[in-house]
Amino acid sequence: MFIIKRALQMLQLPVYMDNNATTACDSRVVDAMLPFFTRHFGNAASRSHAYGWEAEEAVKYAREQVAALIGAEPGEIIFTSGATEADNLAIKGIFGMYESKGNHIITLATEHKAVLDTCKHIEREGATVTYLPVNSDGTVDLQQLESAIKPTTLLVAIMYANNETGIIQPIKEISAIAKKQGVIFFSDAVQAAGKIPVNVNADGIDLAAITAHKMYGPKGVGALYVRRKNPRVRLAPLLDGGGHEKGIRSGTLNVPGIVGFGKAAALASEMLTTEGQRLSRLRDKLENALLQLAQVNVNGNRNSRLPHVTNLSFAHAESEGLMMGFNKNVAVSSGSACTSASLEPSHVLKAMGLNDEAALASLRFSLGRFTTEEEVDYVIEQVGAGVRKMRGLVSI
Ligand code: PLP
Repeated sequence: MFIIKRALQMLQLPVYMDNNATTACDSRVVDAMLPFFTRHFGNAASRSHAYGWEAEEAVKYAREQVAALIGAEPGEIIFTSGATEADNLAIKGIFGMYESKGNHIITLATEHKAVLDTCKHIEREGATVTYLPVNSDGTVDLQQLESAIKPTTLLVAIMYANNETGIIQPIKEISAIAKKQGVIFFSDAVQAAGKIPVNVNADGIDLAAITAHKMYGPKGVGALYVRRKNPRVRLAPLLDGGGHEKGIRSGTLNVPGIVGFGKAAALASEMLTTEGQRLSRLRDKLENALLQLAQVNVNGNRNSRLPHVTNLSFAHAESEGLMMGFNKNVAVSSGSACTSASLEPSHVLKAMGLNDEAALASLRFSLGRFTTEEEVDYVIEQVGAGVRKMRGLVSI
């Protein structure tokens, strides 16, 4: 008893299990960034003095580190303010550049709002968008994808892994279908990059959005990978100005952020295999323990998931009420952080066929680099108690 109490005293509460919303910055990332706020504060576009050269050199190195994480060439990385901007740039940029060739875009009903709302936006400007449904396990139906492609299709936009469920899409199969029909393939790889191997060449991806704050880097910096060969992909810029980032994204580069992103990408590459194994063991422990509560359902395909994520529906235990009960002790979420202010059922779970009641009784647990076994044990106990309490309050 004494030992258990001691272990609990060491826990930092609330225990954080919402790493798909954002991650803590790794202290090694912060250390790499700090000099670029003070001593090395130069503008990477200043060509006439050493302050500029130093900043440019640091950005060059970070670009190599970020490119290496996804198997790209450094020249194919366009730094942005995050993945929302990268998603916008990919979709609006393709629509703007190739408007004369077609106006049709195919995406998935379970995409992040940064993709879905961007598609809605361009629909108002004359695009036609097909929002493909998903199978009940969260994956795309490849036959439906193939038959949705038309001569006017410019782009297939399908995420690598879902932020709410962790479901990984059959990326190689998707890219093969797009390639066969000469359609550009964009993947929002925000949740996959740095967590599972992502290689734009092996995967056949033409455009990919990533962001630093989901991989223990700083917020407010991300990148769009833009394929340069086979095919060379061109984009209409969203921002005009000084012509930074090959004229695709003007604006003074966020040098400390980019340096941090580079360091975060390098650390993620280094730790990918060991962390993947550690986290999938902890996630399975958590999931299996919570499944013992009965009438608990895992949402999505258990064989094609990110190693650190589980999304569970607890029958007769509505998630907002559950979280209210334990949110001083455990930080999880009922869906994406961007839509967590709304009490609407998750569009992702609804698209997978869950009814409102089941969707509103779902919680996403996303473990991370700093999650410990003790924290997992504590969350099992807290969530178990919360579910039992709520079920006791309703007549089943
Ligand atoms: N795409 C996905 C799948 C995400 O999970 C997120 C983050 O919530 C984003 C895009 C947006 O990324 P950012 O916060 O860098 O704008």
